[in-house]
Amino acid sequence: MLTISKEHVTDTLQGGQVPAAFCRSGDTVAFETRDCYDDNDITEVNPYGTRKGGLENPATGPLYVNGAEPGDILKVEIRKIRLREYGIMRTSATNGAFHHLYQDKTARRFYFETNGETGKEGFWFDDSLWLDCDPMIGVIGTAPEKEGIVTITPGVHGGNMDCNKITAGSALYLPVFVPGALLSMGDLHARMGDGEVLICGLETAGTVTVQVTVLKAANNPVIQKTLPLLKSKDKLMTIQSAETIDEAARLAAKQMQQLVKGMTGLDDVNSGMLMSLLSDLVICQIVNPLQTVRCEFPEATIQMYGGRLP
Ligand code: CA
Ligand code: CA
Repeated sequence: MLTISKEHVTDTLQGGQVPAAFCRSGDTVAFETRDCYDDNDITEVNPYGTRKGGLENPATGPLYVNGAEPGDILKVEIRKIRLREYGIMRTSATNGAFHHLYQDKTARRFYFETNGETGKEGFWFDDSLWLDCDPMIGVIGTAPEKEGIVTITPGVHGGNMDCNKITAGSALYLPVFVPGALLSMGDLHARMGDGEVLICGLETAGTVTVQVTVLKAANNPVIQKTLPLLKSKDKLMTIQSAETIDEAARLAAKQMQQLVKGMTGLDDVNSGMLMSLLSDLVICQIVNPLQTVRCEFPEATIQMYGGRLP
């Protein structure tokens, strides 16, 4: 299997970058990722790490997918996320819901182990609380349409969406703006609640195995207009980012209505009613330069009308 090592990292997703690797549509590729602190050696006693000048939120890549042309859709099926042996959390005095409480950065490391009773990987938060890992990808995106976008910012191209449903077993549909799509990813979290309220998830490094498939826009006109789109075990999710949660929520709902209409044939009125009955707006994160909301809708309902995602 093709593997892209963590030597190939960037802090900006953009067209024109030299590909770290080339593959064909349908290939399976592994991305070795650094943590969001650029694998700096952050510990409780050294919350700033030991190295200066690291990248902020580095993403591994880019992967050039042969045959992907502007206007196409790149389907990224996440097969497996394997984590490093520990994760880090660190406070911020400038950002996040509680930043006013912190004068300085405080860091904690959590070491992963296998729970003897359940067999699940997780960690002890303290002497009494065990938490299972639920690994997710914070940053995953293609090269954007115009100028580069730094990897701390989410957008139509994907990027730092910090959606905790981007996990093994899900499929993410991303737009292709440049030849080859130029897929990159990083910023793994061992787990994170919706909102990412402190400023970070349980930040870690690891290896992500994905299968990439190029879908042609002509065969998928509905999906092509509702990207980024995520398919989990039983939900479809439109993911939108904007300067405010309000705006992101409206965008995500509108995108989902377009998807529901396109895949069910329902009109404006009935798709709106059905969405009000079945869709959920969920805050992904409130801590990045743009904030992210997803709109979830049950896939089974769309299938009842004959709608199928490729
Ligand atoms: Ca992130
Ligand atoms: Ca992160």
